[in-house]
Amino acid sequence: MANITLKDIAHSYTGASDNPADYALKKLNLTWRDGGAYALLGPSGCGKTTLLNIISGLITPTKGEVHFNQEDVTQLPTEHRNIAQIFQFPVVYDTMTVFQNLAFPLKNRGRTKEEIEPRVIELAAMLGLSDNLYTKAQHLTADAKQKISLGRGLIRQSVNAILFDEPLTVIDPQLKWEIRSQLKFLHKQFGFTMIYVTHDQTEALTFADEVIVMYEGEIVQVGTPEALFMRPEHTFVGYFIGSPGMNIAPCELQGDTIIVEGYEIELANNYPVQNDAVKIEIGIRPEHLDLSAADTPGGLPVTITKVDDIGRYKIVRVKLRNKEFNVIMNELSAVTGDKASLHFDTSHTHIYVNDHLILGEPK
Ligand code: ADP
Ligand code: MG
Repeated sequence: MANITLKDIAHSYTGASDNPADYALKKLNLTWRDGGAYALLGPSGCGKTTLLNIISGLITPTKGEVHFNQEDVTQLPTEHRNIAQIFQFPVVYDTMTVFQNLAFPLKNRGRTKEEIEPRVIELAAMLGLSDNLYTKAQHLTADAKQKISLGRGLIRQSVNAILFDEPLTVIDPQLKWEIRSQLKFLHKQFGFTMIYVTHDQTEALTFADEVIVMYEGEIVQVGTPEALFMRPEHTFVGYFIGSPGMNIAPCELQGDTIIVEGYEIELANNYPVQNDAVKIEIGIRPEHLDLSAADTPGGLPVTITKVDDIGRYKIVRVKLRNKEFNVIMNELSAVTGDKASLHFDTSHTHIYVNDHLILGEPK
């Protein structure tokens, strides 16, 4: 097993170019630690599959190097990288039984029957395939076929890493949760490096110890699920993580005070002066806003435009002059009618300059 390092990786499907717009991946630098459980999260088209294929060797990057420990593997073909990759759609041999499919990667590498059999039986049990071990794959559902694909990826214990490219897309929703927990269990048990690609934040946050968020060919944040939630380093992370995502509003910044829709809010920190040309925004999560009765001192006057009661809490949409905010509330009984006062938890109010988080000095 190995640490996998990406050094100044960039990739353009149309060959080397000076135009940044030609690059599906912009400049990336990242180390995946041996034994880590990672999720690669981002919207469709942001470059997740391209990045996985560069790690596995299906794509040679236009620029930069891939290292496994100290070895430069950039030009090394896939079959010499010792990586298991599981794709979005099942890759199975239809005419083989489940047993034969699972055994194939081991048999191919000359393992004996005595080595293969217990491993296949163990893995089939973990994936819920034991009852179908001797059924031909062609007779199985898409769910079961994808479980076979997962099994084929997991069967070898000496791989450098296992790459999962949105592997649960074809799996039934209730099974997804079960399979994800099994993957997590297998990670704990065998300590493989796992990189799990998804565009689903719940999947990413429940699977991974560390999440890499990508946006338009760039890595915008690497962090624990908690860090992504509490301190998004890019407005995209704020917006993409959370349900609903972070509220982002244009503002003016004057030291320790922001002006939003003409209203002043005093912050806990002092911020350096920004030049006039830059884009300055505040970001605050719906969880960190609060509503009280209209005209409460210290609150900003808002109109409630919508309340979605989703059981455990309510998502309240309010309008401050021209800007709408989402507020998560357990209880709305203090508010009557459609007028209310909006309060910012300033210890969780972030400032973004050109979409990047900036830090202030405590006062
Ligand atoms: P994701 O997996 O995050 O959905 P991809 O890595 O598949 O994203 O794609 C990143 C970008 O590269 C997209 O704009 C996509 O259209 C483009 N792309 C992907 N594969 C190819 C290809 N084989 N040829 C040309 N462009 C491609
Ligand atoms: Mg993809």
